[in-house]
Amino acid sequence: STETRGERAVTDEAAPEPVPALAEQLPAHAQYLVVGGGTAAFAAMRAIRSARPDAQVLLVSAEHALPYMRPPLSKELWREEELAARAAHPDSLTFAQWNGRRRSVLYEPGAFYTSAERLREAGAGAGVARGWRVTRVDAERRRADLEDAAGGQRASVTFDKCLLAPGVRARRLPQLRAAAAAGRSFAVRELRDVARLARALDDPRVRTVAVVGGGLLATELAAALADRLRSRGVRVALLYRERRPLEHVLPPYLAADAGRRLQELGVALLPDTELTGCRLEHGALRLATSGPGELRADVLVECVGSELDEGLARASRLETHPALGGLLVNAELQARDGVWAAGDAACFYDELLGRRRVEHHDHAVLSGRLAGENMAAAAPARAYRHQSMFWSDLGTRLGYEAIGIIDSSLQTVGVFCEDAVSDVKVEVAAGATAKTPAAAEAESTAESQEMIEVEGSARPEAAWTESTAEPQDKLEVEGSAVAAGSGERYERGVVFYLRERRVVGVLLWNLFNRMHVARQVLSQGEFEDLFEVAKLFSLHEE
Ligand code: FAD
Ligand code: NAD
Repeated sequence: STETRGERAVTDEAAPEPVPALAEQLPAHAQYLVVGGGTAAFAAMRAIRSARPDAQVLLVSAEHALPYMRPPLSKELWREEELAARAAHPDSLTFAQWNGRRRSVLYEPGAFYTSAERLREAGAGAGVARGWRVTRVDAERRRADLEDAAGGQRASVTFDKCLLAPGVRARRLPQLRAAAAAGRSFAVRELRDVARLARALDDPRVRTVAVVGGGLLATELAAALADRLRSRGVRVALLYRERRPLEHVLPPYLAADAGRRLQELGVALLPDTELTGCRLEHGALRLATSGPGELRADVLVECVGSELDEGLARASRLETHPALGGLLVNAELQARDGVWAAGDAACFYDELLGRRRVEHHDHAVLSGRLAGENMAAAAPARAYRHQSMFWSDLGTRLGYEAIGIIDSSLQTVGVFCEDAVSDVKVEVAAGATAKTPAAAEAESTAESQEMIEVEGSARPEAAWTESTAEPQDKLEVEGSAVAAGSGERYERGVVFYLRERRVVGVLLWNLFNRMHVARQVLSQGEFEDLFEVAKLFSLHEE
């Protein structure tokens, strides 16, 4: 098929989406019905089948791919050749992990699942109805209404127990609707989004890619795309309204360090910039911004957060959390009698840290598993107590992992080895059309943020320092200010996030295999001296 991209025409090489199973092929009843076919859904299915090998589980997934993991979609996959064609065929899509070993993005191959027909015969097994969306769950009648992706077929399935694991969807910017419709602005949530974006980037006329957002997704993707497109001379810019990338997650000095690392990877930074409009002109996107004026890009990637599908909750008369979003569940992950929720979509009660919603892979695995266990158990349900973690990386030289509440509006205390903190001067690649957030650093008052530098092995009289700014060298490229920033590079350390003097979050910066220590610190919570606590992390050992 042919699709029009502004004034260009490109061939659509994506694989056709498989047609969903016919309504009459679906089982009329499922012992365990799971809404969603993502990570939480898969983990729950596995837990149910392991507790009750004779159980019959039906996953209903709005996607056409079998259950797969999302983390590689913003990282490892972008190192793969011929990604556009390969991502269009998830069943055979593999990628190289950090240790070089290849693995499939799918949790299990097609042969693992039981066919809809066999499930219909009330046999034991786990089946996936792909391309079907659950539109309503009636907890009292134990019935779910379904419609296929094209909206043509409808069906209903009754159940004994139901898990809601619909995840969240990518937020889209209304000002980019036309660019998205023209195949020039993309979200990255599903594998099919990766296939589409990769296809657009394969066009040799693409010279500039703008990634919009300053969160985990935007920073990971900007780093991955810069790496992928460097040899072609394609520029990747990160455009965000905050002063520094990852500002909601990291204390200011680490966010500044993350910005410098992105620049080193070739990403041009456009801080303090809100995208206000976009029009297509002579085949290129003209972006109106609150910051440096009008910018030009060929492709946009929207990484501006996520949102719950409120429709399912409303139609099912399920309570959602007014501030945190998500389907309200108790500590045992139950929403209503016979109905549970897990993963990104669940707003759960954490006995240790209070009400929460977590949008990370490990939480999807752990909450999905516990929900499945509770659904299958004859014994009293167990509370969700195990603290989940998350990880992210920017290029190959920075990886960070965290546990608990990682919110930079909390007070933080960071402890870094002095020999792991060094001055850096960032060379901005010629031709980059951006400025660093370091200019804003001049006004940075470390306010509630404290940072301790520790020399070699721990030293009790640690210096408490504030992040300071260096003078900026300004240069003009294509009408935009470019500041070659300098500052401090943090190689290895730990950051404690505090709420009412209690440690509620721990972030490990380039410090691996210490999550068990972080977990203990989080469960104890209150300490006289965080410097002593930092010693537990053996910061001087790689
Ligand atoms: P999902 O995995 O989103 O699965 C939900 C599924 O349900 C989807 O297939 C959806 O189409 C389907 N669905 C929705 N509504 C319905 C309905 N009504 N009926 C039927 N099906 C429905 N986390 C990390 O910790 N580390 C990472 O490095 C990391 N990288 C990420 C990279 C990317 C690109 C993205 C998008 C996320 C990343 N995450 C990462 C977050 C992590 O992937 C999510 O937290 C996790 O996938 C949530 O699992 P889930 O099962 O709740 O939802
Ligand atoms: P996010 O909420 O962390 O970041 C959203 C960013 O978009 C912020 O910088 C925000 O300022 C910006 N933004 C929001 N509205 C905007 C607007 N109108 N105009 C301009 N900017 C706007 O979400 P994300 O980074 O997009 O990630 C999406 C989801 O994927 C989240 O659930 C996240 O947890 C998950 N994810 C996790 C990982 C990981 O754990 N390593 C990696 C990638 C994605």
